[in-house]
Amino acid sequence: MQKTFSRATCLTRDIFRFQPTTITRRIHLEASRLARSKPPPLAFVFDIDGVLLQGPNVLPAAKRTLSLLDGDNPLGMKIPYILLTNGGGLSERDRCEKLTKQLGVQISSSQYIQAHTILRNLSQKYSDQPVLVLGGKLDAVRQVAEGYGFKKAYTTTDVLAWNSSVWPYRKASLAELEIAKSIDFSQTRVSAVFVFHDPQDWALDVQILCDVIQSNGFIGGPYVSPEQQIKEPIELVFCNPDLLWRSNFERPRLGQGAFKEAFQAVYKALTGSTYPYVQYGKPTAATYKFAATVLTDHVKEIYGSGELPHVYMVGDNPESDIAGANAADWSSILVRTGVFDPQQGPPSHKPTYLANDVEAAVKWAIDRELAKGL
Ligand SMILES: [Mg+2]
Repeated sequence: MQKTFSRATCLTRDIFRFQPTTITRRIHLEASRLARSKPPPLAFVFDIDGVLLQGPNVLPAAKRTLSLLDGDNPLGMKIPYILLTNGGGLSERDRCEKLTKQLGVQISSSQYIQAHTILRNLSQKYSDQPVLVLGGKLDAVRQVAEGYGFKKAYTTTDVLAWNSSVWPYRKASLAELEIAKSIDFSQTRVSAVFVFHDPQDWALDVQILCDVIQSNGFIGGPYVSPEQQIKEPIELVFCNPDLLWRSNFERPRLGQGAFKEAFQAVYKALTGSTYPYVQYGKPTAATYKFAATVLTDHVKEIYGSGELPHVYMVGDNPESDIAGANAADWSSILVRTGVFDPQQGPPSHKPTYLANDVEAAVKWAIDRELAKGL
C-alpha cells in the first residue's frame, strides 16, 4: 500500500537528500512550522485551587488531564492551556517551578497568570517612582515587584523600620529589620499603593494606607482635605477581590477582598467617603482580557498562529471562575472538587457544563468540539 505524506513531510524528505546541512536545517524548521501551523479548535484556562490541587495535594485527575492535553487525546495534538489563579505572593518563575514538580509536567511562566501578574502592565508608568507594595511574607512581594520593573518598591515594614511610632503596637522583627530599606518616608512621596497579595498585618497596613492617602503620599505629612484626596487620588490597586478563600481549616478564611472592606470601612469612618480604587483578579473583565492575550501568545508559541481558538474555562468557584468566563464569552465548566457545594443549591453563576472533575471537564469539551466538526 502506498504511503501518503503531508506537504511538510515531503518537503523535508526531498530537501534532506540534496542540500547542505544549514539549508536542510532551515527547511526542516520551515516544514516543522507548516506541520504545526493549525492550532486545535479549543484551548483551556484552568483555575488551580480546587481544580488541579486541593490544598497541598495534587488531584489524581489533574495529572491525567495534563497528559491528555499534551497530545494523548482524540485530536492527537497538543491542546494549549494556561493557568489563571487569584493566588500570588511569589514570582511566576518560582511558582511554576513548584507546580512543575507537583504536577509532573513542565509549566512555563508564559502559561501562568496569578493575581498580580497583570501589574507588569503598570511597571513602566511607575518604574522610577516610589510605590508601596502590600501583602505576603517579609519582602517577597517587593522582589516580585522589582522583577516586574518597579525599581522603588517599599513595604509597610520598611515604614515601621523607619519610624516605630507609626504603629506602636508592633515592633519590626530582626528578620524584617535586616531586609528593610532605609528610607525617610516623610521626605519620599509614595505615588501609588499596590496590594499584591493578602496582607499579613491588617492593622499596620490599614494605618499606613490611610497615612499615605491622607497626607498626599508623605507619611506623617500635613493632611489634605478629603475632597482633594478623592479629586487627585494616589492610585490604589487591589489584585484579588475574593472575600473568602479555602485553606486546610474547616471554615473559609478571610481573603484580600475582606482586607479591602476593612480599609474602606475605616476610611469612610474617617472621611465620610469611599476611596477610589482599581480592582484586578478574577472575575474582573481586565484580568480575563489579559488572560486572553496571554493564551493567544501561548497558542502562537506552540503553533505559530496568533488566532485564539474557542476558550474553555475550568473552575471550582461560580463567583469568580464561572462569572468571569461567562462575561468573557468563553465556555465555562464548573467542577465539583472545590468550593462549589451542590448541596447548597444551584451555582450563583450558571456554567456551560457541570463536571465531576477536571478530567471529565476536558473530555467533555474535546468531544463537544469534535461533534461540531462532524
Ligand atoms: Mg479555585
